[in-house]
Amino acid sequence: MGAAEPKRLGVMGGTFDPIHAGHLVTAEEALWQFRLDEVLFVPTGRPWMKEGRDVAAPEHRYLMTVIATASNPRFSVSRIEVEREGPTYTVETLQELRRTAEEHIELFFITGADAMLEIFQWKDPEEVLSEAHFIAATRPGYDIARFEKEAPTSHPNVSVMTIPALAISSTDIRRRVREGEPIRYLVPEGVQAYIEKAGLYRGGR
Ligand code: NAP
Repeated sequence: MGAAEPKRLGVMGGTFDPIHAGHLVTAEEALWQFRLDEVLFVPTGRPWMKEGRDVAAPEHRYLMTVIATASNPRFSVSRIEVEREGPTYTVETLQELRRTAEEHIELFFITGADAMLEIFQWKDPEEVLSEAHFIAATRPGYDIARFEKEAPTSHPNVSVMTIPALAISSTDIRRRVREGEPIRYLVPEGVQAYIEKAGLYRGGR
């Protein structure tokens, strides 16, 4: 790579409540498909929009993400949204990452397709789309036709990536913990240990 080539930085946004094998496979696949140099996981702060359910504290979700990604030299974790006050807007995160980068970077924002629809619908879609290439990860059986109708997939900055491992979901993992079912291999071993030690998801979540 020549000196003038920008660094290709993947930004993996999610609540990660908890992070699971599907998220890790998604990030690795994006790294490969889009020839990224690194993927930065960005756990959300306090998700004010998730009405009607408790979300584990940002610090718990941040630490589980660090544990899950520790063994991959191309993965790292940012505290940028965990520490920012108020609602989390992806556009602000991308702008801050660009502003504080020490080198020229090209941004690739990776998240779930349904979450991506919200980003496009809620805040400055054109500005958001000019900040990064968007990679929407979907589960097998996901209604891509709906995504194509609502998201500007014809836009050169939007791609869809189907990830079979995303049959695993955080919602199902929380239910399993609550009901005493196994989560081994659905989450990294260290994350399972952290969930048990911190007593997460045993209550009404
Ligand atoms: P969500 O609504 O909890 O998740 C929607 C779907 O996407 C779920 O099926 C979820 O599965 C999946 N998903 C979430 N993150 C994923 C990832 N990184 N890789 C693969 N699948 C993923 O979404 P969210 O966690 O609140 O938000 C995701 C990202 O979008 C965050 O970075 C958030 O800040 C951003 N966002 C921004 C705006 C805005 O700027 N206005 C609005 C909405 C979301 P799991 O539950 O298994 O993860």
